[in-house]
Amino acid sequence: MHPGPAALNPVTGQVRLRIAGELATADLRGPNVCALITPEQQDAILARLGPDPLREDADPERARTRIQRSRKGIGELLMDQAVLAGVGNVYRCEVLYRHRVDPFTPGNALKRKTFDAMWADLVRLLRIGLTYNQILTMDDQIDEAEALIAAGDADTVQTELTGRRLGEHFERRFWLYKRTGEPCLVCGSKVRSQVVAGRNLYWCGRCQRRH
Ligand SMILES: [Zn+2]
Repeated sequence: MHPGPAALNPVTGQVRLRIAGELATADLRGPNVCALITPEQQDAILARLGPDPLREDADPERARTRIQRSRKGIGELLMDQAVLAGVGNVYRCEVLYRHRVDPFTPGNALKRKTFDAMWADLVRLLRIGLTYNQILTMDDQIDEAEALIAAGDADTVQTELTGRRLGEHFERRFWLYKRTGEPCLVCGSKVRSQVVAGRNLYWCGRCQRRH
């Protein structure tokens, strides 16, 4: 999302779809699928989606049931939009790390309280991400973001952050996303990576050991 009309925002990189108005220009980049569809096709796609943590009416039990019936690894399941909608690769890696979950734990071996804690965390993280148009997973940045929201309201924060700073308000840093080979910030082990569900999964082999 950029402020201003399309004429002020030259296209850079691979933009799949551009929506432009007088006040802002939004570019869609890197979607898994980008296609023009009919309203009927849209309904069919939405019906196949798992619960979205950003929605007030989301039912986490639907996601939990699917995960607990599967032998696939939780790192793979979190990327399946039929299980849970709206969680991309960064949130997948970071939320598994935040809860010290081995990404290769089979869904049917994931404890209920672990799922519940991860869901609650995703609800919190995704709302902050939406407010700031930036993915935040580091505790100090989350605390700062929540303090700013508490000091005003989310709308004020968004209005004040429009312009170049929206999406760049906080320093871009993560627990382990794109940090292959660098030391884990908690234990010092090298961050590992492997392609899982088509995207690079990052994890710490020591902090995220299966119990
Ligand atoms: Zn570690």
